[in-house]
Amino acid sequence: MKATCWMGRNTVEVREVPDPRILNSRDAVVRVTSTAICGSDLHLYDGYVPTMKKGDILGHEFMGEVVEVGPKVSTLKVGDRVVVPFPIACGNCTSCEHGMFSVCENSNPNAGLAEKLMGHAPSGIFGYSHMLGGYPGGQAQYARVPFADVGPIKIEDDLPDEKVLFLSDILPTGWMGAEMCDIKPGDTIAVWGAGPVGQFAVASAYLMGAERVICIDRFPYRLGIAERAGAETLNYEEVDVLDALRDMTAGRGPDACIDAVGMEAHHPTPAMYAYDRVKQAARLETERPYALREAIMACRNGGIVSVIGVYGGVLDKFPMGSLMNRSLTLRSGQCHVQRYLEPLLDKIRKGDIDPSFVISHRMRLEDAPRGYEMFKNKQDDCNKIVLTP
Ligand SMILES: [Zn+2]
Ligand SMILES: [Zn+2]
Repeated sequence: MKATCWMGRNTVEVREVPDPRILNSRDAVVRVTSTAICGSDLHLYDGYVPTMKKGDILGHEFMGEVVEVGPKVSTLKVGDRVVVPFPIACGNCTSCEHGMFSVCENSNPNAGLAEKLMGHAPSGIFGYSHMLGGYPGGQAQYARVPFADVGPIKIEDDLPDEKVLFLSDILPTGWMGAEMCDIKPGDTIAVWGAGPVGQFAVASAYLMGAERVICIDRFPYRLGIAERAGAETLNYEEVDVLDALRDMTAGRGPDACIDAVGMEAHHPTPAMYAYDRVKQAARLETERPYALREAIMACRNGGIVSVIGVYGGVLDKFPMGSLMNRSLTLRSGQCHVQRYLEPLLDKIRKGDIDPSFVISHRMRLEDAPRGYEMFKNKQDDCNKIVLTP
């Protein structure tokens, strides 16, 4: 089959690789009909996630048709149409029983690698480094899906791929980011990052009853999409974000702040950007945490900071004093996607949300290398790319 392979920093190639096979009794093999490139794939592309190996198959957002099932998968049959969540979860361990699917205790065969960096291991994730299981991803013609009786959700109506594909990651991730804010009527929520996850966080915050949502980014086209989702916007290259947020909230700060940026944030002050960029390049820190620092500083006293942007390791100059002295709550997590599949599919069916608004480009799988380059450099107002194998 053809698959998008990581071949080193800033290099992906679509290569011929062996077809996946059933390895365990709870596996299924899916013929991928649609897959997407995620902002978090850019952290792999840029070389900031450790334990990638040349030839690793990328992709954790995919859906398709079941073509083979293992003997213990009773919930799916050949021909079923499914969306596959990005965290791989067994459904039986203590974490899974508590709905914490992205920290499943049984799905990461390389837990030891992750334990060295993080203390304990999170779940396996498709196409996201050996530290997170070394699973081949879904930017390919076929993918093996472990624990297929737990993760994938069947799509039984005629909703097109483009409306349901993002159940695999970015829609539930944006939703969980807003959910962690405990939104009450009248709340003001600020969202750093107007990429697709930030755009879904904006939409979710409104669906949960937020009165105002303020979105922060530097790309006018992305801010425009957030505005169409109802947000007020700030361009951090044009205004001082902390001052602006204070002005907009009568000096108090937003009730909750969502970091939908993560480890490769940009900063308008060259000296500050250079400081973290150099430390990151020298691998002295793995993150450039401007969005997170700013989200903490901006949040009102007693508010919540919700982190859904991806971080990989350790960071510098973390404003712990602000967090501690002002009674802030920090919440985070890779999305427990399995928890949200049914309720969000229901909202898509009812028309409460149509996630396809984030798509800016549609390409063939073969064009994935061009897609990564475009998405990284934000060429042609690239917001979200869907690939068709
Ligand atoms: Zn993703
Ligand atoms: Zn589990």
